[in-house]
Amino acid sequence: SLTYLIAHSRRRSIASCRHLGTLVIAEHEGGSLTASSLSSIEAAGKLLSKDSSLSLLLAGAGPTLQEAAAKAASCHPSVSQVLVADSDKFKNPLAEPWAKLVHLVQQKGEYSHIIAASNSFGKNILPRAAALLDVSPITDVIDISESNTFVRPIYAGNALSTIRYTGSDPCMLTVRSTSFPVGSTSADSKTNPVPIHQVDLSTFSEDWNSRHVKQTTQDSERPDLGSARVVITGGRALKSAENFKLIEKLAEKLGAAVGATRAAVDAGYVPNDLQVGQTGKIVAPELYMAFGVSGAIQHIAGMRDSKVIVAVNKDADAPIFQVADYGLVGDLFEIIPELLEKLPEK
Ligand code: FAD
Repeated sequence: SLTYLIAHSRRRSIASCRHLGTLVIAEHEGGSLTASSLSSIEAAGKLLSKDSSLSLLLAGAGPTLQEAAAKAASCHPSVSQVLVADSDKFKNPLAEPWAKLVHLVQQKGEYSHIIAASNSFGKNILPRAAALLDVSPITDVIDISESNTFVRPIYAGNALSTIRYTGSDPCMLTVRSTSFPVGSTSADSKTNPVPIHQVDLSTFSEDWNSRHVKQTTQDSERPDLGSARVVITGGRALKSAENFKLIEKLAEKLGAAVGATRAAVDAGYVPNDLQVGQTGKIVAPELYMAFGVSGAIQHIAGMRDSKVIVAVNKDADAPIFQVADYGLVGDLFEIIPELLEKLPEK
């Protein structure tokens, strides 16, 4: 009967909520795991109990993948195995093959949790994989209190909601890297390498409708915006791409990453991968300096967790001053040149 079916399926989901193991979908670059993948491992560590295990899934093609896999195998004492899918199909970060790969690995591994970073890579793959596995993903997790209880921001970070997952396995999460800083164990761990297993791709079907055309990356000496210790952000007040170079010069002097508001990005002063905020990157550096930024709620959502916030704005009532630790009312076109002059060389 229908009642039996519902009761049966509820029992199955509750029973299957026990820890089996967590799979972290990891990214690699230049033969190493990315900082956001290490944070995802940190988050997965919160789900570990004595009966559970943590596996990493890495995909790509060629020697850099194998190099990353070898490093991943001894990256953290909690990791128990590394799964590697080495094929040209995963050479580019195309969401469809990756989602299918996660589906395939889950069918074989039956993980209770699957975790990816809440960045463009994870946000692209995880919801598609969740659809293939017929579960609802939980995105932007900032805390894990129990194996099925998670905290995530809502209303652009103005409220936090605690969510209990009651669906069937796997419970799929994207986690915010800024909320799971890499601990000292992870950063300098030299644990004995765990086994590396090649994923059997013999049943992997290649039916998807997108094709990788090209990838354009900005070559920059500057630190990565998502993990920089200092971020210098400019807003619409900069007025032009030419003037935005003032922000870039200051960032260079301070060894900082450059950020921008959406207004500055939309006006074409800088590319959109520099956007900080609700629809941009979430950052939490030691020092965040905002020049000519009004402090709209959608911008604050992306930087409110910064340790020290400095704001320069010519309007004393600008909302950015409500979240700033240090505020300076003044014209950025006078203040930045003065700072450039007074700051010592790097
Ligand atoms: P403005 O709001 O125009 O502020 C410019 C500030 O510069 C003013 O406070 C002004 O007093 C000051 N100023 C002007 N001249 C000077 C000067 N010479 N010296 C010093 N100060 C000066 N925005 C984001 O940033 N990130 C997001 O991810 C984002 N996502 C969004 C998502 C949605 C769904 C929506 C609706 C909006 C989003 N926005 C986002 C846009 C956001 O609402 C604001 O429009 C935007 O952040 C404003 O950017 P701004 O502070 O540069 O510009």
